[in-house]
Amino acid sequence: MFDTLRRIVQAVNEAPDLERALAVIVRRVRETLGADVCSVYLTDFDSREHVLQATEGLHPEAVGRVRLPLNRGLIGWISERREPLNLPDAASHPRYLFVHETGENRFRGFLGAPIIQNRRVLGVLVLRQRESRTFEDDEVTLLVTLASQLAGAITHARASGELARLQDTESLPSHFLQGLPGSPGIAIGRILVVYPPADLEAVPDRPAQDTATEEASFRNAVRDVVDELEQFAKRTAKHLPAEDRALFDAWLLMLESDTLIDNTVERIRQGNWAPGALRETIEEHAKVFDAMEDAYLRERATDVRDLGRRILMHLQNLEVRPVEYPPVTVLFGDQISAMQIAAVPRHSLAAIVSTGGSSSSHVAILARGMGVPAAMGIADLPVSRLDGIEIVVDGYRGRVYLSPGPAVRAEYKRLLDGDRALSNELEALRRLPPETPDGYSLPLYLNTGLVSESRPLGIEESAGVGLYRTELPFLVRDRFPGEKVQITNYRQALETFAPRPVTIRTLDVGGDKPLPYFPMSEANPFLGWRGIRMTLDHPEIFITQIRAMLRASIGLDNLQILLPMISTVDEVEEARLLIRRAHDELEEEGHPVHMPPIGIMIEVPSAVYQIEALARRVDFLSVGTNDLTQYILAVDRNNSHVAKLYDELHPAVLRALTEIMKGARTHGREVGICGEMAGNPLAAVLLLGMGVHSLSMGAGSLLRVKWVIRSMSRARAREILSMALECEDAACVRRLLVRALEEVGLGGLLLPGK
Ligand code: PEP
Ligand code: MG
Repeated sequence: MFDTLRRIVQAVNEAPDLERALAVIVRRVRETLGADVCSVYLTDFDSREHVLQATEGLHPEAVGRVRLPLNRGLIGWISERREPLNLPDAASHPRYLFVHETGENRFRGFLGAPIIQNRRVLGVLVLRQRESRTFEDDEVTLLVTLASQLAGAITHARASGELARLQDTESLPSHFLQGLPGSPGIAIGRILVVYPPADLEAVPDRPAQDTATEEASFRNAVRDVVDELEQFAKRTAKHLPAEDRALFDAWLLMLESDTLIDNTVERIRQGNWAPGALRETIEEHAKVFDAMEDAYLRERATDVRDLGRRILMHLQNLEVRPVEYPPVTVLFGDQISAMQIAAVPRHSLAAIVSTGGSSSSHVAILARGMGVPAAMGIADLPVSRLDGIEIVVDGYRGRVYLSPGPAVRAEYKRLLDGDRALSNELEALRRLPPETPDGYSLPLYLNTGLVSESRPLGIEESAGVGLYRTELPFLVRDRFPGEKVQITNYRQALETFAPRPVTIRTLDVGGDKPLPYFPMSEANPFLGWRGIRMTLDHPEIFITQIRAMLRASIGLDNLQILLPMISTVDEVEEARLLIRRAHDELEEEGHPVHMPPIGIMIEVPSAVYQIEALARRVDFLSVGTNDLTQYILAVDRNNSHVAKLYDELHPAVLRALTEIMKGARTHGREVGICGEMAGNPLAAVLLLGMGVHSLSMGAGSLLRVKWVIRSMSRARAREILSMALECEDAACVRRLLVRALEEVGLGGLLLPGK
């Protein structure tokens, strides 16, 4: 049965358009279940009708003509109840509606199942039998399973079909394609489809004619890519944040790593030709990242494959053909790499649309850093046919309109103009302090943390670094970085911001972010061996990192140390002892080091409930709302199936935050927020009301949040907070906040599109 299903779904996926996809469905399902009729009704969301879209067994001319209002007949009944309906004699059901055009009065047995995707009923799949027939349980489950399997295929086919029609007739689509918000903003531009430059996966294994020549050409190709990357890095130096430019350094590191070069050379020496050897090495490397739970880290696999393709291109002597970028380019692709983004002249890049990923994907983080709107996970689209099409990208809501009609276009043009006006207003805030009209100052810090931190955006207007994530240098190498390498990295960040504080977090890998050279497998990685749990089990890693931090800060003394994933008091005690030990050792060795302030991340529910005991033991607290939200709501922050449930404005999260503030106050400790919530202008109102001491965010959010702070008095923020704390759901909180921002003239595009 599973095989039959798989074959049907595969056949549907291969169909070139919606019509043919549905034809496949009705024919194959009727055959498989031995029914007299199989039909598909699809929901027309505009006219609010169910339309007979395909049939095997009813009058073919009824297709497209039979249209039933959403609440009529047995189809409407199934769609309303979202359940299958199995009737030996359909006509005896009170909701039965006789439809003359189909000639269906000849049929008695009836089985129907809803086709549902993301809680929306896309249609109904129906079987009919001439004689009375009660379908068996396993037949019902087959139809239900098939209907659920078909939902994605129908979405895909629907999009393909609509696009084909669009291209023929220039008619206008009446609906948008929904994905996930990646980076806020609006763009109206032309699609440029990006695709991998060389098809590495397609490279076959072949015996090397001459291993020495193969090895030489491989090494030359790598050198060429290194040159190319260095040129890219230079060219983009002006308009790409240093944090993102650091990605080039990460790639260069990968290119220089023994794993990549030596493994490939080894394979060549064993007899494979250079492209085949390269393919094997890259695949092996990429698979390590593929296996990671964390969506952000999984994205590194794309980087590895992209590098592989670039090397292959040079091996194959393919020219990197200059691309003609439309003046208003919307990059569209399955797997867009940072290199492809960097290649577009900054003034031409209007937006990025990715068919995969989510807001925590590499591409989305990069887009936010550059201030370019992005929509992610716009799935089920025939990407290859989109080149040159006009598109509206709504990065706030994560949706796109292909070949927009005049009404949609005009509406988005208006929003875009509003957005531009907003950017100009924001620019004017650059040099002004983040201070409320009633004189309360709420310092804004930056979140940074890629390999080299030379000059991240937002240096001037930030109060320092609130969260420096140290994971990446550990992940792009094939072993732990030593003390010296770490000192160089941390020193750069500390120097850039001195005398302002830089809060460096100790390693937060493990569990869902395993190090490639430190394999482990866990059933529940998010509840597993991560952050401080892992580093306390490996004091050699922890102490090396602390020593590097302390030494990097000599003479600057602007270091603060932050410990991630704290869930018990013991962890704090133990970490403090180790930090003290590292400090004393360094002193004994003659280094003039100072003990820095030590803080902990509050991102696990147990830490909220023990806030007083924890606060007493440290100098400051920093709330990681990304993890805190996922742990309080039991919603995986990277899982698109439950993305709707992930909401930092959930009353339970707000309550946790007020508890943290209360506990910290008892011991006079300062509380900063460093999760994504800090960069959300809506949430900023609540955080201001709670009296948090600082907010730390990506550079792209600084001015928006500053505007909120400068427009809203602390007293008003407190009032709004107390109303929000009365709310029983996130929607109520959001409504309050939207209204509050509108009142002070910050409505419209400042608001995320939930
Ligand atoms: C958080 O959890 O909110 C946080 C800032 O840490 P990370 O996103 O690195 O887990
Ligand atoms: Mg965290």
